[in-house]
Amino acid sequence: PEESEGEAFFAADAEELLHRPAYDTYKNLRGRLLIAAGSSDYSGAAVLCSRAALRAGAGIVRLATPVRPYAALPGALIVREVDTAAGSFDKESIPALAEMMQQSDAVAAGSGWSQCRGSAAVLSALQEFPGPLLLDADALNTAAREPQRWLRHGKTVITPHPGEAKRLAEAFGVPQFEDRTNFALALAAKLDAVTVLKGPHTVVADPSGRWSLNTSGCAALATAGSGDVLAGIIGALLAGNPEHPFEMAKLGVFLHGLAGETGKAGLIADDLPEFAAEAKARLTR
Ligand code: AMP
Ligand code: MG
Repeated sequence: PEESEGEAFFAADAEELLHRPAYDTYKNLRGRLLIAAGSSDYSGAAVLCSRAALRAGAGIVRLATPVRPYAALPGALIVREVDTAAGSFDKESIPALAEMMQQSDAVAAGSGWSQCRGSAAVLSALQEFPGPLLLDADALNTAAREPQRWLRHGKTVITPHPGEAKRLAEAFGVPQFEDRTNFALALAAKLDAVTVLKGPHTVVADPSGRWSLNTSGCAALATAGSGDVLAGIIGALLAGNPEHPFEMAKLGVFLHGLAGETGKAGLIADDLPEFAAEAKARLTR
């Protein structure tokens, strides 16, 4: 789009957005995040997303998950198992999610969901959330399966990797521009959502036509679970600053990228939350 306006995002931009919490803050004020993640197939995604959100500075993180993830969950986490027959988010999860949404400043959903018949109804219920809603992974694939159900009034952030972006574009009739910036802008405009098009030099596009190119990160991030961590980081930032989803998405992508740059041999997604927290602390004046 001709009226689009964008620039690269650097450390100085992150510094502008990061502030120390006030000495007299309290956990509710630092942001309450609801995460709806995991399934019997992918319990680790729930662990990675929640740990990342806690490390990124959310005051309270509640995890709704259809299975108790067998990997160790942080003690700090409030966990609610939503009992579903499918071992995946379906209609039976909706009452618990609706109740937990009322205690939340932001919601992050989709990491490790798997897809089952009832997930479209879950997505519809989540779209009722008045605050910022981040949709990742199978929440996006669910949206692509039933695009006619897309009806979002609040602020939305979507975090597709190229495959998920392609499915969304096909479902919603968005032109798949070869230029990734134009592609992200087209998705953002169509879905009225801040669009984080992931990959080397992730593009973050706002429905207003503004866009940003990330400058951090490296190929070490191309590892299983990396995107689940990103969803947790951005979710936490949204919970702490619900009015500025474009800025929080750019900041989260940048911190996640720095975490990948540590050069740690054999880096895995489990390492990323702590490294992202260290990067955040370094950039906070
Ligand atoms: P996902 O595919 O959902 O696990 O997300 C992968 C994450 O790793 C995203 O944040 C990508 O931007 C990042 N990533 C994947 N491959 C690369 C790469 N070659 N260089 C830099 N970042 C990457
Ligand atoms: Mg992913």
